Amino acid sequence: MGMLITVRCPGCNRKVHYWAADLLQVLGDRRLNEPPFPCSRCNSRELDVRWRIPAPSELTDLTIRRPIRQVVRWIWRNEKA
Ligand SMILES: [Zn+2]
Repeated sequence: MGMLITVRCPGCNRKVHYWAADLLQVLGDRRLNEPPFPCSRCNSRELDVRWRIPAPSELTDLTIRRPIRQVVRWIWRNEKA
């Protein structure tokens, strides 16, 4: 529990909640009032970012997007022998 970041897209009205601690862990030190990602629905970067400490009663019915695991993959390219 801690600071909750709510990112809302004014264009398509998609809204996503994150824990500030998760964003700091995944994205590193950054300004928390900047949107962490473009809107996943319409790709807009003009997003409305708000942060607050939620009341415990609020958390019973809140879906929060959290990092599960990091995926590392190989990039291949063609080269002259
Ligand atoms: Zn959007």
